[in-house]
Amino acid sequence: MSEKINFQAEVNKMLGIVINSLYSEKYIFLRELISNASDACDKLRYLSLTKPDIAKGNGELKIVITPNEKDNTLIIADNGIGMNKDDLINHLGTIAKSGTADFVANMKDNGTSTELIGQFGVGFYSAFMVAEKVEILTRKAGEDIAWRWVSDGIDGFEIEEIKKPTIGTEIKLYLKEDEKNYVDTIYLRHLIRTYSDHINYPIMLNLGDAGEEKINSASALWSKNKAEITQEQYKDFYQHISHNFDEPWMTLHFKAEGSIEYTGLLYIPSTQPYDLFQPDRKQSLKLYVNKVFISDKVEELMPNYLRFVKGLIDSSDLPLNISREMLQQNALVAKIRQGTVSRLLKELKKRSEDYDDYLKFWENFGTAFKEGIYEDFSNREDIASLSLFHTTLNEDKLTTLDKYIERMKEEQKAIYYITGDDVKVLANNPQLEAFKQKGIEVLLLTDPIDEFWTQALSNYKGKAIKHVSQAEDVLFERTETKAEEGSLQKLTELMAEIFKDEVGKVVITEKLTNSPVSLTVENGQMSIHLERLMRNHQQQTAFASTRILEVNPYHPLIIKLSEAVHDETGRIKVEEICRILLDQAKIAEGEPISDPAYYAAKISEYILKSF
Ligand code: ADP
Ligand code: MG
Repeated sequence: MSEKINFQAEVNKMLGIVINSLYSEKYIFLRELISNASDACDKLRYLSLTKPDIAKGNGELKIVITPNEKDNTLIIADNGIGMNKDDLINHLGTIAKSGTADFVANMKDNGTSTELIGQFGVGFYSAFMVAEKVEILTRKAGEDIAWRWVSDGIDGFEIEEIKKPTIGTEIKLYLKEDEKNYVDTIYLRHLIRTYSDHINYPIMLNLGDAGEEKINSASALWSKNKAEITQEQYKDFYQHISHNFDEPWMTLHFKAEGSIEYTGLLYIPSTQPYDLFQPDRKQSLKLYVNKVFISDKVEELMPNYLRFVKGLIDSSDLPLNISREMLQQNALVAKIRQGTVSRLLKELKKRSEDYDDYLKFWENFGTAFKEGIYEDFSNREDIASLSLFHTTLNEDKLTTLDKYIERMKEEQKAIYYITGDDVKVLANNPQLEAFKQKGIEVLLLTDPIDEFWTQALSNYKGKAIKHVSQAEDVLFERTETKAEEGSLQKLTELMAEIFKDEVGKVVITEKLTNSPVSLTVENGQMSIHLERLMRNHQQQTAFASTRILEVNPYHPLIIKLSEAVHDETGRIKVEEICRILLDQAKIAEGEPISDPAYYAAKISEYILKSF
């Protein structure tokens, strides 16, 4: 009895996208199915390390391709791990990866790049680009029952129990009428050699009576000498191991020798994965021991801020039968991580010398990479030196901290920054006025992580890193006319009284030029921007930093107000104007004001008076 099951809604949508947008590169289906077969062999080989009986009588792991010209069918078979009923339903009927469904829902049906599609593991579905029907016969290692899965790739699939003597999976494609070239052995040989040569298991072409012919070299690419590997092979391997379609932005192949020996083949993609900032996104470097795949879930292999790095580490110094739990506290794994991270950072340093090239990396991964300044204590300074920042000096081009230091003014002791939501808005923040006037550069930081690393890294190459609100007033000593001392005092006391529920303190500052007042927080307290971020994530409600209202004693409005403050009859008006000024300071900080309607009415009233 066969059972009919519908595809999950997203699968349906995805199928449409895959079939349409990959149209020009249909042949990639073969690479995808071979890649899956290879993954299945990896999984069985790993399992049989601890359960040798599970693959008893299974023979050498391999992938067999059988074209049949008469029926116009193509079979891709492997004797790997196989699938049971749950696997078939969960892996081939639904989209398991988190976030994918949302992403697909937002994706336009046209104009979607193949690179994006590559991130979803739609690999298997690509079979429907060339096949009108796909039939899978599969038996999972360690289980007796086998299954037949059939689908036309339109709305669902049928599934039924069958008998199958061997473990593994056979995928039979009933090719479309105009896809006859995939039964042509010459074309198949060419495709396999071009796109799947790096596969670690023999790929056999079944020629019927003429027997099986081995097509690929079946040697682990990473164990070869660099000189023997072409860029094309590196790229194909990258696409296989990362499940991506793009070109790698960086390829790093190395052998570490010494107290521990290991080989690394690492890649940085040239596109950003859609789930880079999803909380459950973990590093996915694969760990091999002597060319045997062990796991791609060894979180300790790569720090989280480098979670975008793809590829593998192969070490012969780890025991083959190592369990995931053992890997977690393994001192060798920690050493491998250290060594690998420092190689990556060194390579990034080299690449950073070409600004335009490095910018591509930075735009994709900079925000994640910067987490390292906070997270990776021992490499903190190196990571900071590889980071790029917007500044007040040149809003289009990013700068490094080292370049910033080179440009520092003689009297300037610290590196200054300001945080907010948007570079353009930040650049106009009143807090920056005096800095601009004095020609002191300020970093404009807009990523949430900036709030954290600036707390963790208080010094860079001997220079303190300070929020603009912590700058010393001496930097900005001024000579213009100023409000009279006593009146100013009276005015600030009055402001403190009117705003006692909204601001903790009213102070005089030398740092403002164009604005009469500005809002900031007490030294060492959470910045207004961070507070807003937390509020947006419902993180914090009870605590708010104490607001400080800074007053510019040189501003004509403040001079006028401090004169008027002595005149009891004009008192109401003074209070009214102070209220407007506080609201303006809040607006400049991106903060809500308490009574927008009152504010708007007052502004209109004063505008009218100016005519
Ligand atoms: P991905 O390879 O990125 O996971 P695919 O769409 O290519 O995505 O495959 C989906 C899943 O189906 C695989 O992760 C695997 O669990 C399962 N699968 C596909 N082909 C095979 C196979 N030949 N043997 C065992 N499992 C397979
Ligand atoms: Mg796949």
